[in-house]
Amino acid sequence: MDSPGLIGRIRELQRAAALLEPDRQTRRVLLETVATHAETFLERLPAAPVFESHAASAAELARHPPGERPQALDALLQLFRRSVEDTGLKASSAGHLAYIPGGGLYASALGDYLAAVTDEYAGVRFAGPGAVEMENLLLRWMADLTGYPADARGNLASGGSIANLIAVVTAREARELRCTDIPRAVVYLTARTHHSLEKALRIAGLNECVRRRVATDACHRMDPAALQAVIEHDRAAGLRPWLVLATAGSTDVGAIDPLEPIGRIAAAEGLWYHIDAAYGGFFLLCPEMRECLRGLELSDSLVMDPHKSLFLPYGIGAVLVRDGAMLARAHAYQADYMQDAVAGSPPADSPADLSPELSKHFRGPRLWLPLLLYGVAPFRACLQEKRLLTRYFHERVRALGFEVGPQPELTVSTYRWVPESGDPDAFNEALVQAIHRDGRVFVSSTRLGGRYFLRLAVLGFRTHLETIELTLRVLAEKVAELESTGSR
Ligand SMILES: *Cc1c(COP(=O)(O)O)cnc(C)c1O
Repeated sequence: MDSPGLIGRIRELQRAAALLEPDRQTRRVLLETVATHAETFLERLPAAPVFESHAASAAELARHPPGERPQALDALLQLFRRSVEDTGLKASSAGHLAYIPGGGLYASALGDYLAAVTDEYAGVRFAGPGAVEMENLLLRWMADLTGYPADARGNLASGGSIANLIAVVTAREARELRCTDIPRAVVYLTARTHHSLEKALRIAGLNECVRRRVATDACHRMDPAALQAVIEHDRAAGLRPWLVLATAGSTDVGAIDPLEPIGRIAAAEGLWYHIDAAYGGFFLLCPEMRECLRGLELSDSLVMDPHKSLFLPYGIGAVLVRDGAMLARAHAYQADYMQDAVAGSPPADSPADLSPELSKHFRGPRLWLPLLLYGVAPFRACLQEKRLLTRYFHERVRALGFEVGPQPELTVSTYRWVPESGDPDAFNEALVQAIHRDGRVFVSSTRLGGRYFLRLAVLGFRTHLETIELTLRVLAEKVAELESTGSR
């Protein structure tokens, strides 16, 4: 191709790609169309079933693969509604009372919109000083809330699982575990520890570590005396106690381990102390919860999930490390092609130095915008409301004749119906299925002491008293139906 020919072809390709840069008027129409669709979603949400299986609608997506031709936005939004919005569990619904509910603050969606439109590069301070500053400000806010020192560092990861993985890798590097140490290195946890930590150990090449499931009390909290005893036993046996994993808000019952006594043992024994506070950490905002969360500040690393207890949409989990240099030691790298992006002076404080990611989603605005726009007070009130709703439910469900689990410390209540005859486990399983089929509220189950229990997890910011009353009515109704049909 001669030069004019080349230029002609370049111009032709530019025109062929022009759809990728809509003009102002087109952008306005696109945004209004999407915003109107989102409004319709929010308007439908209160009356829509919390759970719809509709697998066939989800499968419709597969019949519309990307093709060469453009498609109309309206048609795509209708497809999105049928196959995504109207299938499965609506995490943003008031009636989502299962697992650990998510959120979906609208202001957070707008933060994501800004992050995506500006496409700020949040991996390295040189490229995105404001972006990095914003994420570090949010991490500093969490570190101050926890009581971590000034040289603590952290990372806004995609969720609690990756945040836990970052902490485990940091603990491995900080204690210089070599492959020959692994079969002798001991990890202390409980039966309530979240499985993402087991997963993290395996991903981090630590699956051959010794695990000790430390005994728990009647409220499913780690027993510090049992921890001390098993550490001593392990040392005497020539093993190397390495890592203790405590939980501040276990996923199934919301139990908070005795953080301070465990911290004292970890310090005396030279163990890395990690606390998984993915669910419970932000309850530090509530003065009445500070007593049972005391000891969080003694940890070496800590995880808390804004997409749980700060009601954000899925996709953000924070890890904090007390000695920030340890986080950098486990994650910082250099490369020739990055030489002009190096800020130079330690301490490393860019996400790329403190996590496995290089290019990453700019997660700051989804948290920064709602926190600054509303202030912290409504977040605190919302958490306090959820705790009181849980307490109210726990009392009322017991009054209905259910057997209940431990008094909730956070926002999970466990309960089960003991039928007049027949297998209680089968009855409660049928009860959960009946509630799922009904779809007005969505609850989940767990096993406690080998027995089947239902759970109520109150953490959706849209969940208020009406939803709890509705849940109690649905439960009473379904129990009556199951008892009368004897379908157990
Ligand atoms: C939810 C949860 C996790 C996992 O977090 P994701 O954000 O779902 O990856 C880890 N630990 C606890 C205690 C949790 O509740």
